[in-house]
Amino acid sequence: MKKLPRVLVVEDEPAIAELIAVNLRHNGFAPTVVFDGESARREIDAVLPDVILLDWMLPGESGAALARAWRRQERTKTVPILMLTARSDESDKVQGLDAGADDYITKPFSTQELLARIRAVLRRRAPEIVNDSVQVGELSLDAATYRVSFREAELKLGPTEFKLLHYLMKHPERVHTRGTLLDKIWGDHVFIEERTVDVHVKRLRESLGDAAGMVETVRGAGYRLTARVAVGQGSGDSAA
Ligand code: CA
Repeated sequence: MKKLPRVLVVEDEPAIAELIAVNLRHNGFAPTVVFDGESARREIDAVLPDVILLDWMLPGESGAALARAWRRQERTKTVPILMLTARSDESDKVQGLDAGADDYITKPFSTQELLARIRAVLRRRAPEIVNDSVQVGELSLDAATYRVSFREAELKLGPTEFKLLHYLMKHPERVHTRGTLLDKIWGDHVFIEERTVDVHVKRLRESLGDAAGMVETVRGAGYRLTARVAVGQGSGDSAA
């Protein structure tokens, strides 16, 4: 098993901190929550995180002051920092970035946006630790362990179906023609009829069970993976 990226969440509002931590845990990260700068410093001394989610408005030292201090210190100067804040003014955004934050996210934000931003700062700063797992609605796929699960239940997929699903999950809510799928999954040097795609999509749906409806046929165009069908929660929840 690959080590999970450690995320230090510095957020003084317990409800938001908890919501963020739960979502991170469900998406392949190892979060630690602290409520102020002092505890954040102690935590960093003990274990260096892979990324810091830092609230702007904290009791005691502000998020900006902490970011500035961490950027100056040898131990923390390359750790990506993502600022969380209720402020959306352009000047505040500039201040946050000037303080050394890698990115800035304004509350309320969706879970999916937060995860995407975390992955993006990790990729820029430390490409080797981004785990290749994807989540669409309640369907998740981990390329490192070759596991696919829906609502926590593991699904068994053949190798081609796995590759097909991986591609669709990395590019969800978009229509892919049979030609594109052939290029991306089988490689463009292979001569295979487009009908082959239909055969594997059919097998994929059979393997997906309750999640089969997530793979949609778009008449005359191709296929699309959508979160809308199977999602009970997850893509629309937000932290405010
Ligand atoms: Ca706060």
